[in-house]
Amino acid sequence: MDKMSSDWKIIVFDMDGVLIDAKSSWAWIHDRFGVDNEDSLKAYERGDIDDGEFIRRDIELWKSAEPNISRQDIIDILKTAPVMKGFHKVIPSLKENYNTAIISGGLKPLAEHVGGEYFDRIFANDIKDHEGRLSSRGIVDVPLKNKGDILEKLLSEEGIKKERCVAIGNSHIDAPMLERAGLGIAFNPDDEKVKRSADWVIEEKDLSALFDVLDM
Ligand SMILES: [Mg+2]
Repeated sequence: MDKMSSDWKIIVFDMDGVLIDAKSSWAWIHDRFGVDNEDSLKAYERGDIDDGEFIRRDIELWKSAEPNISRQDIIDILKTAPVMKGFHKVIPSLKENYNTAIISGGLKPLAEHVGGEYFDRIFANDIKDHEGRLSSRGIVDVPLKNKGDILEKLLSEEGIKKERCVAIGNSHIDAPMLERAGLGIAFNPDDEKVKRSADWVIEEKDLSALFDVLDM
């Protein structure tokens, strides 16, 4: 495969379903509170609501179950999410050899918890407190439909050509990112769209498979 090269400069990861063995960091919290966001997810996918409103509705669901929760309470729940198999074997050595980044529509406190010491750049969404309790307003740094644009911003800030970038994701949300990267890898793929956008597909839920693909 001629796209493959050992001259990669940056490896960019989606988080949920790739670095974390859970479908979504938001859903990890929903499950804990016994709520689900099917309605707002559909509204978002139809284009009826934007990312800020989508996040606001998710946070409102948590507050309906637990009115006094704070950001720290959410962080404590996020910390119970398991990392993907192979994480500790692969990620530290990637960090030694490449620039590394996370671009996630998930929650930044989880990205910082699992990836803070291994990733040079972290782009993700966040929550904040207002007067000691969780505010319904979130912080949208990664609109779900714009991961490709965030990747381009990252590459231009770092002065890295997209041909030298590897991007790894598991869902259609990651497709624009995988398409723009020199090497797009669908890992633990959730749908056909992410597979079609990828140069390489890893079905196995084990990050160790990246060693072969990256020729490490
Ligand atoms: Mg994902």
